[in-house]
Amino acid sequence: MTNKVEQCVACGIRLVETGYVRFPCPTCGGELGRCISCRQQSNPYTCDKCGFVGP
Ligand SMILES: [Zn+2]
Ligand SMILES: [Zn+2]
Repeated sequence: MTNKVEQCVACGIRLVETGYVRFPCPTCGGELGRCISCRQQSNPYTCDKCGFVGP
């Protein structure tokens, strides 16, 4: 089952605008997405697969 990341992992906004990033979770390798504002502010996020808290 493949779930394509469509929401910012930090704020939950839909990733429709340009500037967002998709990156693998450092711990479990699951795909995470982060919107441009959360990226710029380095907002903390939590991987919903493994519970890793980043940045
Ligand atoms: Zn965000
Ligand atoms: Zn993870």
